[in-house]
Amino acid sequence: MIDKPKPIIERIQIDKDKLQFLKDLIANPKISPFDKNKIIKKITGLCAICGSYATQIVTYKLDDISLIERYCDTCISKAKL
Ligand SMILES: [Zn+2]
Repeated sequence: MIDKPKPIIERIQIDKDKLQFLKDLIANPKISPFDKNKIIKKITGLCAICGSYATQIVTYKLDDISLIERYCDTCISKAKL
């Protein structure tokens, strides 16, 4: 495992309507987890730890590539950045 460089953390801009849509989506028992994930991926991406919708994007700039990870507000504090 190589040491990760210091990451750049950016908040994902989610407008109020989209956030409500995501909350309703997650709470809806009629939609399968698979379909939920597909929809969430299109909007914010999934949190790398819990699989909920992501609210923060963490970018590690390596030599010529960027490694991108997504986290929700809860998991960003647990993530080893
Ligand atoms: Zn999470």
